[in-house]
Amino acid sequence: MVKKQFAVIGLGRFGSSVCKELYKLGHQVLAIDSKEEKVNDMTRHSTHSAIANGTDEKALQSLGIRNFDYVIVAIGDDIQSSILCTLLLKEFGVANVWVKAQNYYHERVLEKIGADRIVHPEQDMGIRIAQHLTSEKIVDYIELSADYSIVELIATDKVANKSLIDLDVRAKYGCTILGIKRGEDINIAPMPTDHIEKKDILIVFGHKNDLKRFEDEGM
Ligand code: ADP
Repeated sequence: MVKKQFAVIGLGRFGSSVCKELYKLGHQVLAIDSKEEKVNDMTRHSTHSAIANGTDEKALQSLGIRNFDYVIVAIGDDIQSSILCTLLLKEFGVANVWVKAQNYYHERVLEKIGADRIVHPEQDMGIRIAQHLTSEKIVDYIELSADYSIVELIATDKVANKSLIDLDVRAKYGCTILGIKRGEDINIAPMPTDHIEKKDILIVFGHKNDLKRFEDEGM
């Protein structure tokens, strides 16, 4: 795995989860917050940590922030600080600045000043949970764009013991089966002749309408 350098600014619930997970995955992570106790909580879960204000240009410079591949701005309610911090990072030339947006207006400003990716953790999680609640077949769901997604579907009796040729998902539904999970194993290059067993998890890519059709009619 290529190790990337990450910095997380703002260590609330969202920022601290991102920080911990990146560190667990073996990446270099610099954890930054203006509150000492937040930084202290993260020292065990980061490579370096610093008490600094994300809007303080000099402080960011002295932390060498411009050398990081990815900086995640997870400053919560303080929209003004989140915007200023993002602006500074883009001025420094940080290639990938990901920012948590609080609302639609915040998002519009972030887009204008060049945030590379804008995330809405609460909304995204809400959509995911709704998907889980409304379908017993969907175990997970990743939205790639407004139209395309990847879903993980539990194999039902209807598809069990059938091969991918039998199912012919691409021709019938326009979806692609990217992988098949069976317990801890994952088959990432399924062959047309591979058979599906009940309770396998199918990882399927496609247009949302096609995925819905496959889920409703094909499974
Ligand atoms: P969440 O919803 O993710 O829990 P919070 O609003 O609770 O978000 O947390 C945001 C974090 O960002 C807090 O720990 C806060 O101290 C930190 N923070 C806010 N403003 C700044 C800033 N200008 N620079 C650095 N950290 C900041």
